[in-house]
Amino acid sequence: MLDHSSRKEQFAAQLLAELTPLSWEERLKKLTGHSGQSIAFSTSFSLEDQALTHTIAENTLPIRVFTIDTGRLFAETYETFQKTRDTYFGVEIETYYPDTRSLEALVKKQGVNGFYESVEKRKSCCFVRKVEPLNRALAATDVWISGLRREHSDNRADLPVVEYDAGRDIIKVYPLIDLSEADVRAYIQNHAVPYNPLHDRGFPSIGCAPCTRAVNPGDHPRSGRWWWEQENDQECGLHIKDGKLVRIKQTAHA
Ligand code: SF4
Repeated sequence: MLDHSSRKEQFAAQLLAELTPLSWEERLKKLTGHSGQSIAFSTSFSLEDQALTHTIAENTLPIRVFTIDTGRLFAETYETFQKTRDTYFGVEIETYYPDTRSLEALVKKQGVNGFYESVEKRKSCCFVRKVEPLNRALAATDVWISGLRREHSDNRADLPVVEYDAGRDIIKVYPLIDLSEADVRAYIQNHAVPYNPLHDRGFPSIGCAPCTRAVNPGDHPRSGRWWWEQENDQECGLHIKDGKLVRIKQTAHA
């Protein structure tokens, strides 16, 4: 008799075999064809996430959609959030906020912009504003859908469509894993999907406003995120697998 985690791991292997050969839209449909699974999609309104939201809405797929409002997002991101809500009114976008007391304690300890002062302070801010709300959002979730693409990964060029994260005891599904940025942009344009205008102003990757800046054409997309830090420290802890940080180029997913 398999225990809970082993059953989940086995299901992840089954999903991997089923979803890998399919198109990204078919992957979503096939995934939701499995009953008894709590499936959640985290959006930060990136190009990839907008494509996923559009497909979920168009096909009324039974997928919970949620976002994390760190409180420090760009005005353009909030506008994209509102536009997305208005466009896909059939999709409820659950919004998770930092815990008030933790945030008050953080600001008391290191100030509102203390994250510029050290990696430790920046990670504390990311934990309170992003990681803890994410943990709450994913509680009791079996399958977590993310808009990650293989091009976002520095050291995991072979990142699969599906993987089991034992640390979180969750199955991660990346329907867009093998798409290029051009593929995603073409989908957005062809389907008139609303998107964050900052993507057209030199922001390939959009996170919190004080921690993201525009990059020059050809620059690494990551170079606009936490630019004042050494590259090895540029993680926020959202993509932790089996208790370890998985190195991810910063996209709006993180
Ligand atoms: S990206 Fe910057 S503002 Fe946002 S949570 Fe992390 S340190 Fe805080």
